[in-house]
Amino acid sequence: MNWTTFGHKKAIQGVYKAYLSDRLSHAYLIIGMQNVGKTTFALDIAKLLNCISENKPCSECQSCKRIESNNHTDVSVIDIFSDQNSSVSGIDELRDSFISKTNRKPFEGTSRVFILKSIDHMRVEQANIILKTLEEPPEDTKIILLAKNIDTVLETIRSRCQVIYLDPIKESEIVEYLSTFRSVPDEKILQNIAKLSQGRIGWAIKMLNDPEEMNYVNQIMLDFLQIFNFSLIEKFDFAQEISIKIQRNRPKTINEINLWLACLRDLLLLKSGYENDQFHEDYIRVSNELSFNQILQTGNVISETLENLNLNINPRLSLDMLMLKVHNFN
Ligand SMILES: [Zn+2]
Repeated sequence: MNWTTFGHKKAIQGVYKAYLSDRLSHAYLIIGMQNVGKTTFALDIAKLLNCISENKPCSECQSCKRIESNNHTDVSVIDIFSDQNSSVSGIDELRDSFISKTNRKPFEGTSRVFILKSIDHMRVEQANIILKTLEEPPEDTKIILLAKNIDTVLETIRSRCQVIYLDPIKESEIVEYLSTFRSVPDEKILQNIAKLSQGRIGWAIKMLNDPEEMNYVNQIMLDFLQIFNFSLIEKFDFAQEISIKIQRNRPKTINEINLWLACLRDLLLLKSGYENDQFHEDYIRVSNELSFNQILQTGNVISETLENLNLNINPRLSLDMLMLKVHNFN
């Protein structure tokens, strides 16, 4: 056995036990934040079903390798988010690749597996296409739906699937995993990556392989720290900059705002007397200037702002409110 999924032992055991006793559900809904390992886990299930070795999933046989590289004729990965962006053709494509294929027998393996990513973004027309199949699942077919948040999944879909939650992975486990890579940097850098990853193993691996991206992330946090010394007008300018970024690339900017929370966590750690020479001097300066309460309150209003942004409340307005509140704490 060789699961590619890192961590998530409970989820793996649950699926494996069901597989051994032939009680696998025809449809799974995997819930977990971005980069926590949902796609990897779904592909592992597809391997388990189609692996030709004895110890399934081996991740080494032809079948497993073809699944891994997206070349297996019986395993389809469809990303609803990118389909949504391609508008109407996305629906036709979904209908074409989903409905027509679900009715076909497996071609090279033993099970057809459909992995549908980002179903949080699914439109009603798309949901209807999937619902029909979820209601009358063809034999030899498994449907695996992936979403970040269970609350955004339509109840009609949710109720027809077995739900698996993938929790964030512990920082210490991420450090341990990253240190198995070739060309590993300093332990402190690994710890920093693990801390910022907030349990998202995929994100941590990406950062390890891309030092430039890591520098960018650090810069985002340093930029945020500056707001505590800004006048109200400067804070509003900053809010405007961020709201423009949201218009240009929403998911990326939301991730960046999440980093502000990580930044505040560091300030709290420093305030509690945690010593680490890896911290940039700005962290030390700002942590001395702010009180515990100011940091906590700032964290609360950022979380509030993130909720508002998820509810599609006007970004400029939400961010202006955020800046106004932060200004009044200081
Ligand atoms: Zn295999």
